[in-house]
Amino acid sequence: MDQSKIRNFSIIAHIDHGKSTLADRILELTQTVQLRDMTNQILDSLDLERERGITIKLNAVQLKYKAKDGEEYLFHLIDTPGHVDFTYEVSRSLAACEGAVLVVDAAQGIEAQTLANVYLALDNNLEIIPVINKIDLPSADPERVKHEVENVIGLDCTDAPLISAKSGLNVDQVLESIVKHVPAPKGNPEAPLKALIFDSIYDSYRGVIVFVRVQEGMLKVGDKIRFMAAGAEYEILECGVRNPKEVKLQELSCGVVGWFAASIKSVQDVHVGDTVTSCSHPASEPLPGYRKMNPMVYCGLYPTDAAKYNDLRDALEKLKLNDASLQYEAETSQALGFGFRCGFLGLLHMDVVQERLEREYNLTLIATAPSVIYHVYLTDGSMLTIDNPAHMPEVQRIERIEEPYVKAEIMVPNDYVGPVMELCQNKRGVYKEMHYIDDGRNQLEYEIPLGEIVFDFFDRLKSVTKGYASFDYELIGYQPGKLQKMDILLNGEIIDALSIIVHKDFAYNRGNAITVKLKDLIPKQQFEIPIQAAVNGKVIARTNIKSLRKNVLAKCYGGDITRKKKLLEKQKEGKKRMKAVGSVEIPQEAFMAVLSMD
Ligand code: GDP
Ligand code: MG
Repeated sequence: MDQSKIRNFSIIAHIDHGKSTLADRILELTQTVQLRDMTNQILDSLDLERERGITIKLNAVQLKYKAKDGEEYLFHLIDTPGHVDFTYEVSRSLAACEGAVLVVDAAQGIEAQTLANVYLALDNNLEIIPVINKIDLPSADPERVKHEVENVIGLDCTDAPLISAKSGLNVDQVLESIVKHVPAPKGNPEAPLKALIFDSIYDSYRGVIVFVRVQEGMLKVGDKIRFMAAGAEYEILECGVRNPKEVKLQELSCGVVGWFAASIKSVQDVHVGDTVTSCSHPASEPLPGYRKMNPMVYCGLYPTDAAKYNDLRDALEKLKLNDASLQYEAETSQALGFGFRCGFLGLLHMDVVQERLEREYNLTLIATAPSVIYHVYLTDGSMLTIDNPAHMPEVQRIERIEEPYVKAEIMVPNDYVGPVMELCQNKRGVYKEMHYIDDGRNQLEYEIPLGEIVFDFFDRLKSVTKGYASFDYELIGYQPGKLQKMDILLNGEIIDALSIIVHKDFAYNRGNAITVKLKDLIPKQQFEIPIQAAVNGKVIARTNIKSLRKNVLAKCYGGDITRKKKLLEKQKEGKKRMKAVGSVEIPQEAFMAVLSMD
């Protein structure tokens, strides 16, 4: 393949502005996918993506485009997620490309992740092609949005295609723009192999499938290759591209985005960001790789069935191949037994990981409430980083606690500025500045403790703005706060997995709310169970779960045995997601009770 005819690009945008739909049209227009095989958002291949209507994973496909100049071009298109939690997927995609198609909704204009993704593309020195989408909507105002892109981002929109990804209108202009503006890959095909790993997945028959962008040299079946950071060596057994079905090829030439398999069973050998080189002509230096992502929130994941602990470890190991930002280490809880402390980039990420573990690896899990990382300075001058409230040292040893703060950028129409400010203030946010995007909308900047964002900020923001606000944040550092550990006691016993860290001013209210909520969530037992919230050993709130009056089986006294069995069966069903702690059964919802409170 003539390298000058290759174009590698990502599609980036705020969530729901139409990235995946544009990818659909491009696949159709280039006849990569036959119409009868076409489904909406075809690149969202995970069940979870289709159900939720969001893209979680990047997805790379190869397609051929016959341009108006009569030449045939080879495109590698990478569809990316828009949600802030999956930025890592976007940044890895961008490192495999020379250009980015920036999709902006003609009715909504620039939103928080539009900007965030543009900055990522600029960091990677990509050519950005602005595209105004959804011009078929009655509320579309493409001229206003073009102005916005020019004024706020500083991209020239004179030639920006005005499209409808839904109907396909003007999508051909996007393809022509890509040919014209995205540079061809510059790597030297004669140089030693350097291929950047941007993703991977575990296949039970073929081992790890590695997704790479060939930056220098080439790679072919039979080659002996080395992972430069891991040091491991393998022989390439298969390689190819996707369209989006798997296509096998004999080689991946310079500039191509594709995959290879080498019967890799040891998942530790493959790291996203590592460079693949050849054993016979190794490159001297690896490619720059990626900035490591540090998790923002942590939670404990425990199998409901203790016997599944090893399965969970195995599943985490394999899922990490496909989700490079996931981190985990073993932990034990008095209440929940053996499990893992896992780090995530945000709450949606946490949710998605839990669901993927359950669906793709057939596990049933209990997740504890998410926590951020606290810096705990001790009186002896040392500092502990605490990601699990249960590990907080005794209060006598603590000199001060610092918590992470984020800079939050919120885009919001005029009418909702008041409610958003009120929300941020209630979340201990510090107002920084506000500026106008245009006559109808504003960009608000606040500094807010991450711990408060984790604590039901998204849902509240959505409800006070009727969904009209968009939100992006980044970590800015640590600041001291009046923070305390709050323990929850059931039947007089501290349940370590229920401990949380709260601000002093909120402790009383949250203690009350949690105990009341737990009372509703924990099923009644044969005896009365007191629920208490305590700070530094002092009880600040309490309720009781009344005892069960009737035995369920009493109803079937003398009745037929199958009915009795069915009842017991049913009870067992209901217990699936429960964990017996001492003599009390705690359901999954109880661990999340601390998160959703009014
Ligand atoms: P993504 O999150 O950026 O990948 O967005 P999707 O491609 O999943 O699209 C989000 C929603 O917008 C879907 O319901 C699409 O059908 C819809 N959509 C996408 N493009 C258009 C368009 O050009 N016009 C209209 N009316 N709707 C569109
Ligand atoms: Mg999408």
